[in-house]
Amino acid sequence: MSSLYPLFINGELLETKQKEKIFNPANGEEFAEVCLADEAVADSAIQSARLAFDKGPWKNLGLSERKDFILKIAQGILDNAAQLAQLETLNTGKPLKESTFMDIPSSAETFKYFAENLEQFLKAEEIKISSQIAGAQGNLLREPMGVVVLIVPWNYPLLIASWKMAQALAAGNCVILKPSTLTPLTALALAKIINDAGLPKGVVNIITGSGDKLGKVLCSDKRVDMVSFTGSNEVGKKVLEYLSENVKKPIMELGGKSAGIVLKDADLELAVNGSLCSIFLNQGQMCTAMSRILVEDEIYDRFIKDFTEKARRIKLGDGMDFQTQMGPLISESQRKKILEYVQKAVKEGAKVTCGGKIPQAQDLKKGFFFEPTVIADVTKDMVVFKEEIFGPVVCVTKFSGIEEAVRLANSSDFALAGCIWSKDEEAAKRIAGKIDTGTIWINTYGMFFNELPFGGFKQSGFGKELGKAGFLEYTRLKNVVVDKTEGAKPLINYWYGF
Ligand code: NAD
Repeated sequence: MSSLYPLFINGELLETKQKEKIFNPANGEEFAEVCLADEAVADSAIQSARLAFDKGPWKNLGLSERKDFILKIAQGILDNAAQLAQLETLNTGKPLKESTFMDIPSSAETFKYFAENLEQFLKAEEIKISSQIAGAQGNLLREPMGVVVLIVPWNYPLLIASWKMAQALAAGNCVILKPSTLTPLTALALAKIINDAGLPKGVVNIITGSGDKLGKVLCSDKRVDMVSFTGSNEVGKKVLEYLSENVKKPIMELGGKSAGIVLKDADLELAVNGSLCSIFLNQGQMCTAMSRILVEDEIYDRFIKDFTEKARRIKLGDGMDFQTQMGPLISESQRKKILEYVQKAVKEGAKVTCGGKIPQAQDLKKGFFFEPTVIADVTKDMVVFKEEIFGPVVCVTKFSGIEEAVRLANSSDFALAGCIWSKDEEAAKRIAGKIDTGTIWINTYGMFFNELPFGGFKQSGFGKELGKAGFLEYTRLKNVVVDKTEGAKPLINYWYGF
């Protein structure tokens, strides 16, 4: 793969004057350069998608042809899986083991799933009308939204782009994908795969550049019909403001402060190992990270001891080494923010039982590494209990009784996901019913399935991704009423008696 990554507009690779260097967060070495879009380029991407939707063949293709195109994208990802995994790791720092077994194959799977299900999901529905106006027939049709802007964050660059793009394309839309300027490479590599798959010009456009500049153009333009945004609450609020200018549809997948609840009857080893994954995978840079672990008082000390001991054993290193279990953070500014959170927690009286520092080992000096960090004795009023840290830092809090666990879990402004660890599945399900989040995992973490819609409540946003419900977000629902009465007599047509 070339080290210069052009943009992709109207089926052409576009080299722009303005470029940005991309550095490996594990060692600070420059390894690629990306072309940047300005407002004029964003405008041409919108024009390209608009024309492709209004005048191009995409919207009117047979569904099975659309399916075949999308299956080719899935296959293209699989054919290039090893290169894409390396690129994702070089760009984000995440361990190669994660990009190889999670990010890349899951991206391909999502394209495949929506290709294979689009015909079923788009089926028109005939509705029986029960009013006294017998003879009217309702038909519900699912149509594409039109031009959809997809804005994605840096933590799962290809995976989140693939979720959005697979659903949007399968529903018949034309898209503009805007990856983060920090991690645009796999999205731009996807451009070549899409080109090779032979999609009509302009159906997919991929640009990157300043979020503030491009975001305003992309989200406030009349020619855009919908924006699917995943990112921070701060930026999400700006996007909603832009969208209000022309009243366009948003999907908002925002931040989280999820809680894992460990009940006293949990299989402790499972709860400890699962909770390690729930906060330390991807360096804790997961929207669904269980950054709060609530542990029942009877087992609190044992949990802290076992969890701390295992967190200390997590192997930090360059993600390109297959043995690495935790890579560097995405940037120096992210590391600084995380360190400040740990310092605040200590000031407020919490206790760091593991990590909390920048590692000093010689081989880690050049990257943005941070030790896996466990903060014990965190209480609900502490800043670290409330705010999203977005790094490898977990707050552990003691609770007494299920009511308190539910109260603590629900005390957050965020409501994205949660875990319950217990041997009593029925009791865990009852607790799940009381937890205020869009997803709850029982005795597991991070099980995402293409069949199951994902998305948060409260300040974690609205709208779903994945599943039939997620797919339908990328469609608009039209109702077509037919008067089936003989001569259309009883209905409105003869109101004036003429
Ligand atoms: P971010 O909000 O800084 O950036 C997200 C995207 O928005 C990037 O592509 C960025 O360039 C773009 N952007 C920046 N300013 C913009 C503007 N004014 N208008 C339009 N777009 C703009 O988020 P991030 O730091 O990349 O990602 C971390 C955040 O994402 C965390 O809060 C995390 O919880 C959240 N996240 C949520 C989910 C979810 O599914 N709920 C998944 C992953 C990440």
